[in-house]
Amino acid sequence: MIIVLNYAATTEQIDRILLKISRSGLEPFYLEQYGKKIITVIGNSKACNSDDYQSLPGVESVVLITTPFKLASREFKQSKSIIKVRDVEFGGTVKPVIAGPCAIEGYEQFRKAAMAVKEAGAVMLRGGAYKPRTSPYSFQGLEEEGLSILLAVSRELNMPTVSEVTDPRNIEVVSRHVDMLQIGARNMQNFVLLKEVAKTNQPVLLKRGASATIEEWLMAAEYIMAGGNPNVVLCERGIRTFETYTRNTLDLSAVPLVQHLSHLPVIVDPSHGTGSWRLVSPMARAAIGAGADGLIIEVHTCPEEAVSDGPQSLTPHNFSKLMKDIAAISTVITDN
Ligand code: PEP
Ligand code: MN
Repeated sequence: MIIVLNYAATTEQIDRILLKISRSGLEPFYLEQYGKKIITVIGNSKACNSDDYQSLPGVESVVLITTPFKLASREFKQSKSIIKVRDVEFGGTVKPVIAGPCAIEGYEQFRKAAMAVKEAGAVMLRGGAYKPRTSPYSFQGLEEEGLSILLAVSRELNMPTVSEVTDPRNIEVVSRHVDMLQIGARNMQNFVLLKEVAKTNQPVLLKRGASATIEEWLMAAEYIMAGGNPNVVLCERGIRTFETYTRNTLDLSAVPLVQHLSHLPVIVDPSHGTGSWRLVSPMARAAIGAGADGLIIEVHTCPEEAVSDGPQSLTPHNFSKLMKDIAAISTVITDN
């Protein structure tokens, strides 16, 4: 249950409502979000009688929510959320494409890739500076030096950026250099990290964990929202199945399903979703067909020399062809 309070609700009225909830054996969480004062009530729904709260002073409305994720649910917010990253909007009719290399390897490498993706129509840049690699012997990223390169190129090309944060201790430095924080698949249930990004007001790109159910993924979003940050964009990036010919199995059915369950925008990462550049464009086209709110795609000017994820990186030429297809497909999709 979510209780939406009048904006003019006094501290005394709020305290009285919080006390009533606690006394009935339920747990209240108070926060201010979407310009409203909100109390999320957690506990056995049979114990909540919404009528008991509806008429209390200070209460505007009471919404019963059947899913375990509350703030992220469509039951709570029927209109689709538009999440802004500078002037780029996720969740609107235009589908933004984020592109760039898996990792920032150096200034020239990153700048070349960035110029190519901008030319092709990408509106945001990606590039990892802190890389969560499966092997401790693989390239771990340029860290702060990588972030400085990202910032310099972002300023030069006037494009917003996203980069992964893997450790609560690095949130401050990453936030200073990028416009959107990425929580990677490996950290989707790193609750300490989620609670810390919740304290920032930076937009967050929350990737689905490789073995996370849709409910677990939405509960991860709920952590960020309940902590005070409503600016979450979800990213389907493939899940682990028995299949070995692909790196992951891209679950495109998750796109319309999550859009039905939640008001948050959902974008798709066909690069990590497949692991193979040959499959990236077909799956990117399919993602737009499925109604995705955008894409994030790895592009490298010389994939065979990439220090990470070369096999799944598109060349600028193939990326540019894909962008033309996406533009054409987008025009025939009427169901946004
Ligand atoms: C990435 O986008 O750089 C990345 C590591 O992706 P994921 O967390 O989805 O594996
Ligand atoms: Mn990668």
